[in-house]
Amino acid sequence: MLSRIFLIFLPPPSSSLTSIVCGFALLPVSGGFGVTANVFAERAKEMGGSTESLRMILGNLMAHELGHLLLGQSGHSVAGIMRAQWRTQELQRAVEGTLFFLPEQAQTIRAQVLARMINSGTLPAHR
Ligand SMILES: [Zn+2]
Repeated sequence: MLSRIFLIFLPPPSSSLTSIVCGFALLPVSGGFGVTANVFAERAKEMGGSTESLRMILGNLMAHELGHLLLGQSGHSVAGIMRAQWRTQELQRAVEGTLFFLPEQAQTIRAQVLARMINSGTLPAHR
């Protein structure tokens, strides 16, 4: 089975969504791998100043939503790229390229990518 991930850029959300929502990932209810992450790209414009800042923030928003898929959970952490709401310090670190996953999150993501590769036949289970 092939395990692909889709990252979709959506137009600005409707007014019914709160202004702090930057995206969402679709996680399966009964196990398995989530494959679809969505980002409201326009939100990066609202958070960033320069074009370079916008690029970095958008990249970090993408990583955050992909993180939900690869962590297999919709929850957030109190620090790092998976924080629910980015404060000024997270935005600054995003622009600087120093906003990361927490070490345990990075470990989970590596294991998840390996499991997806084995599941898809990209990598044999026993080498
Ligand atoms: Zn999130």
